[in-house]
Amino acid sequence: MINTITIKYKIKVRIMEELFIKEKQKYLEENYPFENVPKLTDKKRCIHCDTIITVGDYKVFKNKSGDEFIYCPNAPECNGTVIDWIPASAVL
Ligand SMILES: [Zn+2]
Repeated sequence: MINTITIKYKIKVRIMEELFIKEKQKYLEENYPFENVPKLTDKKRCIHCDTIITVGDYKVFKNKSGDEFIYCPNAPECNGTVIDWIPASAVL
């Protein structure tokens, strides 16, 4: 089971490098693309995997150009990023 996940992960993110963020709230404040930066404890719905996520579980990936993207906690299985998050209470 673990081996399967690892292999899948490597294939999908071979051109993306996951960054380890120490100060997640600070990073979010500096890189969140919209106003009203959420708290790490806030819940959002990712419209890509249709899952309620905790903001603080976000992942950050860097592409070859050095651009950093805030991804869904379910990345790399889910390719949703911060712009795909809607309020957890929103009805689809
Ligand atoms: Zn997602």
